[in-house]
Amino acid sequence: MKTIIIGGGIIGAAIAHQARAHGSEVVSFDNGPGATAASFGWVNASFFLGENHFRLRQAGIEAWRRLGVGVSWTGALCWEEQGAGLEAQGDALEGLGYDVEVVAGEALRRLEPHVVTPERALRFAVEGVAEPMATAHRLLCDVTRISGVRVEAITHRGGAVTGVQTAQGHMAADRVVVAAGNGSPVLLEQLGVALPMLRRPGVMVRTHAVPPVMSHVLVTPGGEVRQDADGHIWTPTAANHQADDSTEVTRGLDDLANDATARLQALVPGHDIAWDHAMLADRPVPEDGLPVMGAAGPTGCYAAVMHSGVTLAAIAGELMAAVICDTALTNEQAALMAPYAPDRFQSG
Ligand SMILES: Cc1cc2nc3c(=O)[nH]c(=O)nc-3n(C[C@H](O)[C@H](O)[C@H](O)COP(=O)(O)OP(=O)(O)OC[C@H]3O[C@@H](n4cnc5c(N)ncnc54)[C@H](O)[C@@H]3O)c2cc1C
Repeated sequence: MKTIIIGGGIIGAAIAHQARAHGSEVVSFDNGPGATAASFGWVNASFFLGENHFRLRQAGIEAWRRLGVGVSWTGALCWEEQGAGLEAQGDALEGLGYDVEVVAGEALRRLEPHVVTPERALRFAVEGVAEPMATAHRLLCDVTRISGVRVEAITHRGGAVTGVQTAQGHMAADRVVVAAGNGSPVLLEQLGVALPMLRRPGVMVRTHAVPPVMSHVLVTPGGEVRQDADGHIWTPTAANHQADDSTEVTRGLDDLANDATARLQALVPGHDIAWDHAMLADRPVPEDGLPVMGAAGPTGCYAAVMHSGVTLAAIAGELMAAVICDTALTNEQAALMAPYAPDRFQSG
């Protein structure tokens, strides 16, 4: 069986890797970096939209652990709110059975001695962070890749997919997966499949490298912050970026990056902080904010499009590859996937 995956971001890469593990021949097409290149990379279940979504994100963390590559399990410290807000967030997560601990005072300062910390924070020990592009490349290393080529159409005959069309010609396949992020709706529309998306641009800032100053993902009132293995600090320019519902970025990226740098400097006063890269990308967010995963259009065609794609890539890879390769889902897998079928957006 031959599977073509359209999109080589973190979602397409994870599906490609798992479809290969199921024994399919896999070809990945990609037309340049998408959201994955500007992603913060936090793998978490502490941000969620309802219990099903929480369970999927939790399964996402477990799937990354099974995969055993890509994620550094740093844990996260969260103090977006203080007082009653922090307590309510902790109680809600504890009520769902999440591993959450309140850390305060000296214990908190010992965890992050170089960071200006508040009195109290929540610690999510099970969370981590991936370097999204490096991880996507690693997951794609055992499949055939075609880069810099845009898939123009998915071809089909007699109700079943036959392959994809590019400016360079046709390539035949038994299965086609649309994991093209914001490029997905236009491909699916040609098949009569509607995938309405929100417009959710985000800006990520990366600093010059400094010596190690933090070990967790920090979820601060000004935005998430993390330091990578090379010493660069990463932060989005909007607070609460996973729930950021701005539809436009109206300020210059240099202005936004300067503000983010000032915020980081106050958080980590011991080193001179300067930014070296500001990245703008549209998050791929289906209209209801929830993932899309499953069969779409002609037999043999599938779609996988979602925000929090770094958190969800490993579980999306497992679930989608099982479906694509005709492997029976367990009841638990079927229940995880059920709310996210693409046909929820089809009218009539
Ligand atoms: C600022 C920001 C911060 C984020 N932070 C987090 C976070 O902390 N945690 C988290 O879990 N998620 C986060 N996300 C979301 C996450 O990064 C995305 O959900 C994820 O990267 C989506 O991956 P993808 O593979 O679906 O899409 P993409 O990375 O966009 O990849 C799709 C690829 O398909 C290609 N493509 C499109 N159309 C075609 C075509 N016709 N032919 C060939 N190729 C095509 C594109 O060029 C692109 O390379 C963040 C996103 C942003 C922008």
